[in-house]
Amino acid sequence: MQVYTKSSVKSPIVHVGLDDTDSTQGKCTTHAAYRITQYLLDNECTEFVDYPLLIRLNPNIPWKTRGNGAVCLRFRTADHEDVLDRIMDLVHKEKLVASGANPGIAVYCGDSIPYSIQCFARKALYDVVSSRKAKELATRHQIRFFIDGNGQGLVGSMAAIGTLLREDHTFEAVAYRKQEKCGTVRKLDSAQVVQYDAETFPYTFNNYDKEHHRVLILPHGPDPVFCGIRGESAEIVCTALRKLQISEKLEGYMVFRTNQGTNQHLQNEMGLADIKCYTAGFSQCKVDSRPIVIEGGHAMFSVRDNIGGVVNAAVYEPTDLVKIASKLEVGDSIKIGFGVRKPSSKHLRILNVEYLQVLEAKEIFETVNPLCLTCKKRMKSEGTNKGFRCRKCGVRSIRDAKKIVISRPRMVVTGLFVPTPRAHRHLTKPVHRYGMEKNLESTPVITLWPTWFSKL
Ligand code: ATP
Repeated sequence: MQVYTKSSVKSPIVHVGLDDTDSTQGKCTTHAAYRITQYLLDNECTEFVDYPLLIRLNPNIPWKTRGNGAVCLRFRTADHEDVLDRIMDLVHKEKLVASGANPGIAVYCGDSIPYSIQCFARKALYDVVSSRKAKELATRHQIRFFIDGNGQGLVGSMAAIGTLLREDHTFEAVAYRKQEKCGTVRKLDSAQVVQYDAETFPYTFNNYDKEHHRVLILPHGPDPVFCGIRGESAEIVCTALRKLQISEKLEGYMVFRTNQGTNQHLQNEMGLADIKCYTAGFSQCKVDSRPIVIEGGHAMFSVRDNIGGVVNAAVYEPTDLVKIASKLEVGDSIKIGFGVRKPSSKHLRILNVEYLQVLEAKEIFETVNPLCLTCKKRMKSEGTNKGFRCRKCGVRSIRDAKKIVISRPRMVVTGLFVPTPRAHRHLTKPVHRYGMEKNLESTPVITLWPTWFSKL
């Protein structure tokens, strides 16, 4: 095994953004990043100043292949002038781009990232941004780039460059398969996953769905990823991966610093009146129509915000949140994180709920017949203005006795409810991570864990 450590090169930081090198036929942008990193570490005098960043962008983009991931590599190298040319030679030589993909590879040199690129990156997390805007920014900041196909990949590559991820973040150690194994079934003893999950919780997450007995670290497609272990530090994800006994001979692994598991796409409060499709955000609002559970087990209801915007919302069956959502009543105060589904001929715009926080369950009153004072059973009405009679003991109430108003016990408790792990998106923040958020405010220099990159 070859393990890479730091060298000491002093020159401007090079930021390489990559996106859309894959298609449904295969390949993977993180694998292209792995190969480029290997090339840089093997052939150039390179010092990585951060882990490779794996940035999940707006998950509601309809033209994404899978998880809308883009990558940024940040390093110092002795010869930064024509780094793009050398990377492009490698990309072509090693055929790192799938046919049908729309790759974007961009290179920015400089010790700080222009504010306008950071704003562009922030927007790409929750909104739709144009490749025209990405090109305009690249040109304005002398960013050299390569694009192919429809050029959309430049959006992700520029957004990855613009993301510093100084706020909450997690890590993922991604292990890659050898080319000849891609497309075959991934074999891994689930008992090992259950064991390390128990040993490392809460510092690794989304390894195993205990409720549905499902291993969550293995993808299922033809791409070169064997498995990915997510957690709170490079050390813990590396250690957990290296302990796994994987019978298949792998190509290697690399640790990414990522916004996965942080809800970073849901940080913007959205007014519901003029909400745009494909965007993501949160709203503090009230239930406006009582949820109904439709075929398929999904709960549908509408919500209203404090400026009167009303929109439909859906809680889908696989999230396991329907049992909570279906108990909501009109007037309940809630906070929801959501992505906006586009309208179709069958339905209007819908908020696809990604988490539900019940802030206040409204007191619900109902009108019922009085109790029999002897048997403590509800009495039966004898007709309008004729009073009530106990069915058990026959006692009659006074003639003008009235129905009474009582407060109905609510079956919903206040609190935060997030989907079950198998329904998580990459960005979904697991419930146990609330309170575990970290940032790099007091870490001006990132020291990389010695085994962050490995050829096996
Ligand atoms: P994988 O997760 O396997 O790497 P993917 O799901 O990232 O695949 P891509 O093939 O990269 O999918 O396709 C996503 C495309 O959408 C890219 O071209 C990317 O530049 C673009 N894109 C990403 N975010 C936005 C956004 N907010 N607005 C517009 N386009 C976007």
